Amino acid sequence: MSDTVLDVEALDVRYGPVRAVRGISFDVARGGITALLGANGAGKSSTLMAIAGVVPVASGRVSLFGQPTTKSAPDAIVRSGVGICPEGRRVFASLSVEENLIVAGTALAPAPVAAARRDEMMQRFPILGERRRQLAGLLSGGEQQMLAVARALMGAPKLLLMDEPSLGLAPQMVDTIFSIIEELQREGISILLVEQNAALALEVASHAVVMANGEIAGQGTPADLAGDTLLKSAYLAA
Ligand code: ATP
Repeated sequence: MSDTVLDVEALDVRYGPVRAVRGISFDVARGGITALLGANGAGKSSTLMAIAGVVPVASGRVSLFGQPTTKSAPDAIVRSGVGICPEGRRVFASLSVEENLIVAGTALAPAPVAAARRDEMMQRFPILGERRRQLAGLLSGGEQQMLAVARALMGAPKLLLMDEPSLGLAPQMVDTIFSIIEELQREGISILLVEQNAALALEVASHAVVMANGEIAGQGTPADLAGDTLLKSAYLAA
């Protein structure tokens, strides 16, 4: 079994004339948390969305679990073992908590398995259990983030792609979300974490990749990064 779950090589993402990601290469180790850091507009979300198959790869290669997925559609990528927590949570506001999980589960697992996973999620996140019949749009930002994580877990992913999970949350809720991220990692899920809050991301990450202007400005362990003032200015500019 390879110790790499995600391998990105010379990835380019373009939006018409805008070259948002410029030939970046990095990988994500099995069982670790890799933080993807950088200022606004550095290209972090575009990288994540290209890995997820949501935006096309203009050039370069993406492999997940040793298989090439450069041209794969998002549903195939999710079925291969990837969970996605998109920026802004994107829960279905007009569906209940439970219905959000039903929608996710229907596509990802046979009905009895999906039902069992829904029950697991209600136990893992008791607040979602308490609010199972409430509309997701009425949940707090932190509760919506938990629902977004629960939805991603419905497919029993081996790799989670998380885009700005702490954005807009109260400090206490940020701590809760980060405890959940660490718990998932302890359970063996590999995580690629895009975060504005670099200090917090570096507390939990085993490896960090810093982007600037669509390129990789540097990468290493959190300790490596702490000692590099030039890199620090790239990710602290966020
Ligand atoms: P943020 O933290 O603000 O989300 P980011 O590091 O995730 O920043 P991206 O969102 O990937 O950066 O954006 C990278 C570049 O691509 C930016 O210049 C942005 O304006 C541009 N961009 C992103 N999405 C689109 C789009 N749909 N069409 C055109 N340009 C885009």
